[in-house]
Amino acid sequence: MATHPFEIIVGLEVHVQLLTESKLFCSDGTKFGQPPNTLVSPISIGMPGVLPVMNRRALELAIKAGLALQCQIARFTKWDRKHYYYPDLPKNYQISQYDMPFATEGYLDVDVEGKTTKVRLIRVHLEEDAGKNLHDDHGGDSLVDLNRAGMPLIEIVSYPDIRSAAEAGAYLEKLRTLMRDLDVSDCEMQEGSLRCDANVNIAITKEGKTYKTPIVEVKNLNSIKMVEKSITYEAGRQYDQWEKDGKVIGQAPKQTRGWDEARGVTRPQREKEEEADYRYFPEPDLVPVVITEEMLARIKGEVGESSQQRKDRYRDQLGLSEYNASVLVDKGRGVADYFDALMSHDIDAKTAANWVINDVLAHSTGRIKVMHDLAVEPSSLAELIKLVKGNKLNLNDARERVLREMISTGKDASTIVQELGLEVVVDTAAIEAIVDTVLADMSKVVDDFRSGKGKALGALVGQVMKRSQGKFPPALVNEILNKKLGVS
Ligand code: MN
Repeated sequence: MATHPFEIIVGLEVHVQLLTESKLFCSDGTKFGQPPNTLVSPISIGMPGVLPVMNRRALELAIKAGLALQCQIARFTKWDRKHYYYPDLPKNYQISQYDMPFATEGYLDVDVEGKTTKVRLIRVHLEEDAGKNLHDDHGGDSLVDLNRAGMPLIEIVSYPDIRSAAEAGAYLEKLRTLMRDLDVSDCEMQEGSLRCDANVNIAITKEGKTYKTPIVEVKNLNSIKMVEKSITYEAGRQYDQWEKDGKVIGQAPKQTRGWDEARGVTRPQREKEEEADYRYFPEPDLVPVVITEEMLARIKGEVGESSQQRKDRYRDQLGLSEYNASVLVDKGRGVADYFDALMSHDIDAKTAANWVINDVLAHSTGRIKVMHDLAVEPSSLAELIKLVKGNKLNLNDARERVLREMISTGKDASTIVQELGLEVVVDTAAIEAIVDTVLADMSKVVDDFRSGKGKALGALVGQVMKRSQGKFPPALVNEILNKKLGVS
């Protein structure tokens, strides 16, 4: 891969829709995909004189998110009006948080190819969503759907700590897993419950001098793939522009560009308002919010062990590799819960991790929300693993045949082992008898082994297994062979 003569600098602004039954300031429903303008009330359509009331559950979910993102949670926070005129915003202002967000200074550790980057968070604030303008397929008319107006959002703003498209993707994936694990949001990007804007610029170092291009905010990113593609494209475009402009960077205002997925390019959008244009002021219709220690302690209890703590526990206390610990945690709480459940059936950690990562996940499709979404119940898998451990079934048969059959038929492991005739013989005398005939028939190989060719042992094991039609446990065959050959 060609190295670029520049460094990519990215900060992400992510909007996450909270999983509440009702909107942030009124009792309208929140279900996705309802007929246009059916989830509305005088409050969400912006009638004058109505009064908003804060949804307590939204605040609690937001605090959960803030805690999971290692933020400082404010004990006193308030609401502000952010003014702008747009047809999908009938009040002409959005209720948001300006100078006193509920959460500040968190971080998320992001792993890309074995390298961990700490992405710091400036703030997380609560705000209501706007409605949606529909411009296509209406004979040239534009339509407005206010179902989304007033939906509860948190906006998570990172520092510009991200240095590549891959890091941006990993950040979003990690954020999504975290929010889903805590039931804070379903984070469906195609339904708009996770939306991302990327602030992108580059630093070019030439002849000892470093130049930075103006920051461009890229919008319309509807998937993690699009976020990655647009960052790569935008960085290249800024470099080309810098070369074309004669390598001088003036004081350019922040530009907004939209991602054009069909053409794979970013294109200029409306000039973005400066902060002063929004005329922020405190929302007079809502009281400030006091977050008590009691409330915080209760929510901390609901958050429980963080995924970071869980990963550390798997590595440090259970002795799993860093990689295995990460896979179990990064695939979501359902997978880690499954692993814990499997261990509670008296399966050791490394064996449990191998089965979950190599077999259970391979047989499970779709999103794993809870452990029962995985293809086989932990108790059933534990029974299968114990058959292998007790030398009653070969590992290979367990993985390739019995597990498959368990998943497709729902029968338990021992029934399938019987039906398929896979039970291994643990009759030591029977094994010894076959070992003796093999040693007699393959004296040349035995001589090879005795003269130091360690590999010869494999041929002997193979022959014993063949003659037993695979029904002897390989470990026991090895043991008996070694004994007979005088190897301890
Ligand atoms: Mn926002």
